[in-house]
Amino acid sequence: MLKRSLAEDAQEVFRAIALIELGARMQVLESELTLSRDRMIRLYREVKGVSPPKGMLPFSADWYMTWLANIHASLFYNIYLFLKHEAQCSHLDALTKGYRLYLEHCRNSATEAVLDLTRAWTLVRFFDADILQLTACCRCNGKFVAHRHDLQHNIVCGACQPPSRAGKTRKAAAAARQQALELAGSASS
Ligand SMILES: [Zn+2]
Repeated sequence: MLKRSLAEDAQEVFRAIALIELGARMQVLESELTLSRDRMIRLYREVKGVSPPKGMLPFSADWYMTWLANIHASLFYNIYLFLKHEAQCSHLDALTKGYRLYLEHCRNSATEAVLDLTRAWTLVRFFDADILQLTACCRCNGKFVAHRHDLQHNIVCGACQPPSRAGKTRKAAAAARQQALELAGSASS
């Protein structure tokens, strides 16, 4: 096993606690941290008061393509990229801080969070594996999540073109779009 200083070990524990508090599943912890599985299960029980759930992680990239999920995923991924590239955060910091900011945006716009932490983590993995890409909307210029080989030109995002059944959430979509635009603006300036 890897020899670490006590301080490094403590940092790993704090990272694990932060991820568990945000709702991370065991597979996320095991992939991101170097603590033993036993210790992570114990930490999970301490923080959540229950054993970690078993079962497979959500797997399909198509989940991010439905209208509302796409808006939320695009918002989160724009925040994640901003933290990683502009604020020079590590992948793990960008994930946890970005996810907290995403939750804050949802609270501020009185929208229910659609993306859980595990979905957010899986989203980043799909980007790293070149399964997904960001495509610029030709109306709002916001960048949204799309399949890797989808068309790149003259594409309109879900926030600009909500389906008619989306009446109630239309306002929330407009708020999310505004936030994504502000983020894109601050990232490019
Ligand atoms: Zn748009």
